[in-house]
Amino acid sequence: MKKHRIRHFQKQLMNWYAICHRPLPWRKTSDPYLVWVSEVMLQQTQVKTVVPYYQKFVRRFPDIHLLAKTDLEDVLKTWEGLGYYARARNLHKASGIIVKKYGGVLPDDFQLLRKLPGIGEYIASAVSSIAFGQPFAVVDGNVKRVLARLNAIDLPVNRSTSNTVFKGSADRLLARNDPGEFNQAMMELGALVCTPKRPDCGNCPVKRSCEAFRSNAVDHYPKRVKATRTPQFHIATGVVCKGQKVLITRRKLEGLLGGLWEFPGGKIRKDETAETACIREIKEEVSLKVKTDEHLTRIRHAYTHFKIVMDVFLCSYVAGRIRLNGPIDFQWIRTAQIDDYPFPGANHKFIPLLIDRLRKSAGSQVNVEKRLYK
Ligand code: SF4
Repeated sequence: MKKHRIRHFQKQLMNWYAICHRPLPWRKTSDPYLVWVSEVMLQQTQVKTVVPYYQKFVRRFPDIHLLAKTDLEDVLKTWEGLGYYARARNLHKASGIIVKKYGGVLPDDFQLLRKLPGIGEYIASAVSSIAFGQPFAVVDGNVKRVLARLNAIDLPVNRSTSNTVFKGSADRLLARNDPGEFNQAMMELGALVCTPKRPDCGNCPVKRSCEAFRSNAVDHYPKRVKATRTPQFHIATGVVCKGQKVLITRRKLEGLLGGLWEFPGGKIRKDETAETACIREIKEEVSLKVKTDEHLTRIRHAYTHFKIVMDVFLCSYVAGRIRLNGPIDFQWIRTAQIDDYPFPGANHKFIPLLIDRLRKSAGSQVNVEKRLYK
């Protein structure tokens, strides 16, 4: 695009954004801490999902000092359900560094931001432009799609080898007099008008600048390379009951779902049934001998790069003392306490059923005792 056409494009886009943008809660502020929190949440998660989590999070942690001094487990509990828990762990870790090193003020230096845990190119660009008005273009999925159509870019949007081209294209279009507003306008255009399916080209404020529209080739963009099939794993999980209590274990802090609590279990091997895998996994993870009493349910859950099918068993404690091999902590809790701990989404799919099942068996136990002692 020539320079005068870029200026025209910027003007059309910004005028449209001024009138049509959604009044999202994080758009009412340029507080770097709040901008940072919102951008971390918006990575890999849709706006409508983020809104209630953002509101809950900033109510609980209105400033960075409070976030930094709060226990990670409380942060994970507030984040519970939003997924990608590494984001919460990094937010917490980075808040500690910012308080210690920068007196609780986010640095207005792109390179310093990039050095903080969990802050990559996208978040550093978003915070630098929106909170500090610095000329860094953001390139997320929405922006890539818009750029691919605007400039008829033939490269696949889902290959990292294309990133330099998309970044260069975004840099050339960036309105340097108001980069924060411009970046948000590009993302909003992708979310509301230049959508993945059936973009609303007739009402698009930048259709006259759009290469794909002018050549009647909107359907050809963006290009994608075919994703490989998502692998699926079969998991066995055991709810070990001892009296009125159940056993929960805490995952190590690093890696997938790090720091969350769960019921012990793991992958079923080729030569095993779900039941034998459940007994073996519990023995390996916590050194307890248990027996399975009942198949509670089977649930399915999808993570970004794989799916699981999980068979859940009610188990009874048989023998042994807990020695941890993998988990970093354990607790015997009553089901009424489950809400006090952050659990992964897959566990939440069977927790209501578990509570109901244990309540019924506790009720029938009481009835038996009443009959016996009448
Ligand atoms: Fe997207 Fe259509 Fe606008 Fe081009 S004209 S940017 S394809 S919505």
